[in-house]
Amino acid sequence: MPGEESVYLGGGFIPRGKAAISPLDRGFIFADGVYEVIRSYGGLLFELDAHIERLRRSLREIRMEQGAADGLGEMFPELLERNGLSGSEALIYVQITRGAAPRAHLFPAAGTAPTVYAHAVQFDPPFELRDRGIPVILVPDTRWSRCDIKSIALLPNVLARQMAEDAGAGEAVFVRNGTVTEGSASTFCAVFSGTVVTHPESNLLLPGITKKVVFDICARAGIPAAERPVREDELYRASEMMVLSTSREVMPVVSVDGMKVGDGTPGHITKKIQAAFHTINHPA
Ligand code: PMP
Repeated sequence: MPGEESVYLGGGFIPRGKAAISPLDRGFIFADGVYEVIRSYGGLLFELDAHIERLRRSLREIRMEQGAADGLGEMFPELLERNGLSGSEALIYVQITRGAAPRAHLFPAAGTAPTVYAHAVQFDPPFELRDRGIPVILVPDTRWSRCDIKSIALLPNVLARQMAEDAGAGEAVFVRNGTVTEGSASTFCAVFSGTVVTHPESNLLLPGITKKVVFDICARAGIPAAERPVREDELYRASEMMVLSTSREVMPVVSVDGMKVGDGTPGHITKKIQAAFHTINHPA
């Protein structure tokens, strides 16, 4: 019997309808907060430690106490349980803001409690798209220069993703000064002469957890992989492309701005990585 959704807020679980966040919350007023999205495969939390570690890093980089992230990993299973999702495919969203305080740019007074919020939703993996692949469009990277922080300030990402949708594409890929950085909500990879290539970790993109797993898969499978900047003007030479993320996993890219990638179907290296990725989360 699916009851009302239960969310985590202020250190406890409450029905979503009872969850109240102050209009003075700095997340609402300033987008002054950070977040994570964690995938649950039937209760198995994918790369949980890496997500918690990245959340702590985001907190550190915005000069918030990392203690706000304490205990979250232990709380997530109960969040799933309370929503009847322990055995399902689900996504957990967790957000931490600098709390509610009179509106002023300066940090709030010491002792202001951070707002810690989490919810879990059932997730229908995009199996069909993963088989077919998606078109992407290139868009100018209009974001700030701390894209390594998983900030809740996502307006450029939202606008880019909508541009992709309006163009009939599945993702927008950012280009900054002629270099491809990442997708609006994904890591971008291209395959050149059999080598999987992605932008090195830097202030210009989020250090992707799926990317790390994919690079481990490549190392084990003997697929060459390298981190170096990919220029927009060399994309035409790529035989395959893919975007990676917690929710999309390994998603083949079959066209860029309407130009086919390879023969316009998912490439064999991409498919090999997809297969290996699947076995990690679906052990026999
Ligand atoms: N870049 C951006 C901007 C993202 O939003 C995401 C999704 N969190 C990623 C990359 C991929 O990160 P991950 O594999 O850790 O989900």
